Amino acid sequence: MAIREGKWKCTSCATVNLGRNTQCSACGKVRGADVEFFVDDSEAETTDETLLQKAAGGADWHCEWCGSDNQAAQSACRQCSAQRGTAPSRQQKIILDKNGQTPATGNTGSTPPAAAKKATLPGLLVIAGILAVVVGLVWFLFFKTDVVPVTVSSAGWERAQDVEEERLVRETAWENNVPSGARVLRSWQEKFGTEDIQVGTERVKTGKKDLGNGFFEDVYENRPVYETRDVFKNKVEYEIWKWIVIRTEKMTGTSDMTPQWPQVSLDYRQRLGGKREKAEVNLINDKDSGKNYVYSVPVQEISAYSKGQKLTAEITVTGIVHTLKP
Ligand SMILES: [Zn+2]
Ligand SMILES: [Zn+2]
Repeated sequence: MAIREGKWKCTSCATVNLGRNTQCSACGKVRGADVEFFVDDSEAETTDETLLQKAAGGADWHCEWCGSDNQAAQSACRQCSAQRGTAPSRQQKIILDKNGQTPATGNTGSTPPAAAKKATLPGLLVIAGILAVVVGLVWFLFFKTDVVPVTVSSAGWERAQDVEEERLVRETAWENNVPSGARVLRSWQEKFGTEDIQVGTERVKTGKKDLGNGFFEDVYENRPVYETRDVFKNKVEYEIWKWIVIRTEKMTGTSDMTPQWPQVSLDYRQRLGGKREKAEVNLINDKDSGKNYVYSVPVQEISAYSKGQKLTAEITVTGIVHTLKP
């Protein structure tokens, strides 16, 4: 409960006076309602009993007749003898330090979040400009097309079929992630991560309270103290039967344009897995034979294309074929 004596500046002659004084030591002007107290944290703590009693006595009050400040214990104005009556007290207020403004969320010593920068109009115009350039570039590279005569250099399809086999595999996992049906082989302790554990609290000075009588009292807050500790969990090695892709069978065609799936013969503990298909038409630019393009079509439409076929393509600068027409 550190108490420090503040200071105030005379509004008439600018002399800095001790907080306890209700009158300027140089010109005699009374300390008025418009005077603010201030104190530096380096100011020594008050130890004098009389001054401590003054500090604990409550906020001073303003005489409504002559404007003088009077101590809370006085019932009549020491300047003009008017009774206190309904005269108001000086404001008591808490002034927070920088660290007092952050909510106590655990991490001690954290700095308050920086205030979000307000977007300015010139800033927004620059962003809009950059955005327009990017959109324009994307349009030019990927959407703007030229109509070009092309010849089919080749066309083909491919159908692929995965074959899976059920096999006994060894895996490791954290104890709570071991799948059902697994046969546990062994387990051991391993570092899983870290966690912050509250190990106590610390008293932090977060500000000071203007007592309204020339004195200030330090304000404290109890904040949790955390310690980072390793967390260990059980790691498990287990065996489990799993379906694994062991091979992929493919069928392709460049002259036979009737796409088919490969005929697969399955052994014990085998099954069909995923399957994929694609069909592509390779094109040469009739005006510039150095330029080749690839155009993907649905597999069932590949029969419409054949080598040597003359077509018209809509093509982007980057060589993406958007449409292909007779
Ligand atoms: Zn003065
Ligand atoms: Zn008075």
